[in-house]
Amino acid sequence: MLNWFSDMRKKVSATVVIHLCFYISAFIAWPIMAEMELFEQFYEFSRDHEDWDIDEFSLLVVNLTIALILSSLFQSSRLRKLVRQRDFQRQRAEQNARHDPLTGLMNRRAFGDLLQETVKTVTAEQPIFIAMLDLDRFKPVNDIHGHAAGDAIIRKVAQRLTVEIGTIAQVGRLGGDEFAIIFEPGTTVTQVERSARRLIHAIEQPFHFNKTPIYISGSVGLMTWGEDISVTEALRRADKSLYAAKDGGRARFAWYDAELDQKSHERAQLEIELTKAIANNEIQAWFQPIINIETEDLIGFEVLARWTHETRGEVSPSTFIEIAEDSGQIGDLGLSILRQACRAAADWDPKLTISFNVSPLQFHDPNLVEQIKGILDECRFDARRLTIEVTESSIIRDFDIARAKLDALKALGVAVALDDFGTGYSSLASLRQLPFDRIKIDRSFVTNIAAEPQNQKIVAGIMALATGLELDVTAEGIETNDDLAYLQDLSCSLGQGFLFERAVPENHVHWLIDSKWSDWPLDAKRANELQQAEIKAAS
Ligand code: C2E
Ligand code: CA
Ligand code: CA
Repeated sequence: MLNWFSDMRKKVSATVVIHLCFYISAFIAWPIMAEMELFEQFYEFSRDHEDWDIDEFSLLVVNLTIALILSSLFQSSRLRKLVRQRDFQRQRAEQNARHDPLTGLMNRRAFGDLLQETVKTVTAEQPIFIAMLDLDRFKPVNDIHGHAAGDAIIRKVAQRLTVEIGTIAQVGRLGGDEFAIIFEPGTTVTQVERSARRLIHAIEQPFHFNKTPIYISGSVGLMTWGEDISVTEALRRADKSLYAAKDGGRARFAWYDAELDQKSHERAQLEIELTKAIANNEIQAWFQPIINIETEDLIGFEVLARWTHETRGEVSPSTFIEIAEDSGQIGDLGLSILRQACRAAADWDPKLTISFNVSPLQFHDPNLVEQIKGILDECRFDARRLTIEVTESSIIRDFDIARAKLDALKALGVAVALDDFGTGYSSLASLRQLPFDRIKIDRSFVTNIAAEPQNQKIVAGIMALATGLELDVTAEGIETNDDLAYLQDLSCSLGQGFLFERAVPENHVHWLIDSKWSDWPLDAKRANELQQAEIKAAS
């Protein structure tokens, strides 16, 4: 397109130049020809050769010349008009390339260019402030009221922003419902925050579409650009702060927080490493004993995932399980843990059970039952030796769906337990409506129970309820002999906790199977020392 313009310009200029040359040469030739009396000579010549019809031909030449001049004048005016039109179109195209057609604000490209210019002037002493604004829950507006309403609101938001911002900043639309603002140099933090508040307030005022009031809100992320960072990095930071504002509850502003950013960066790093660790089976199944607290016999183990990272050391399961859930890897991780546990436990005394944790996302995986069955078959592990532990967050969304899933699991022959009992909001309803075999009282009620009358009442209540519903109860988090004695008095059937043992790796389990818990080595480290001593003695 641009080439076409320059070609056209060249053509017009060439025509004008040629014409000018003609006119100039005519003016130069005119006095010379007059001096030489050329016309008189020509007249004489044509009269002398009357039979050649020179005068008629001359008339034709004069006519043709006039026609040529008129035609070229017409042509050049036409070309000039065309060029004017094209110039206008080009300006419009440039305007469109730099402005958002819906709102007329700068678009992402123009805003980027503006930042690119600004980056040259930024110093720590004279920082520039950038704000990123995003509408909260704007998608439902489009879904409910239609795209025309959505467009009208975006246009109105742009107007309100422009009015509120006044002369202290420039605003652009980056796309969708996202706007960016760059404050003029010299604007203070107080002014920036005041503007942010005003913008948020302006957006909270109702928008009217077809006489229907529509309410939305906006969140603002703020960042100080005082160091030598690229435009992309500046925008990324502004974006981070925007999401911090959204996470903080929306309709508010938040400043960029380097520490928070570092954390989320580390989390992203951990996610990458977790993917590799799962693929390489580096996450191991460890086993924490569960004791019959009346007879004090070992009845089985809870399987707990453990990740010893080569540089980070022990990574807490609460951390990596959450990342595995968020990144959709919990299914693979869980199955790997269950497979390891079933393989290990297949050789143990068949009276010993294992309890496996299923997290909410995994619980809703339609393939879960099939996958568990596959692993039980593959490891030739008796389903009756397996308990599936689910937390309340897995089941509260929809009891009917949860019941169907629990029934399907029970049809395999496994038992199901409600984990962390007492911490959710609808524990009682869950118990009444769903076919659990056992509950696990959360350790927050158990640890130090002998000294906490409030917890004593809660646990006594849970015990009465469980007895009424004929459910097994496991008390988690027994840490002291006092805790144990108190639970024995309440006739709680099963217990688990640091008093007995923490989770140990598979190769330490035999220490626990072969002796009474009171004779157990206190922890895995001690077991390790004992094992080393055993190896030494044998050699
Ligand atoms: P949870 O299912 O409630 O597991 C029991 C947690 O309590 C374990 O923490 C265990 O080490 C800890 N614990 C046991 N006895 C005591 C005690 O006496 N005192 C104290 N303070 N803590 C005790 P851990 O291993 O850190 O696991 C944390 C959570 O991570 C688990 O809570 C479970 O929700 C999840 N998790 C662990 N492994 C897996 C897994 O393989 N799959 C899934 N989906 N979740 C897992
Ligand atoms: Ca558990
Ligand atoms: Ca628990």
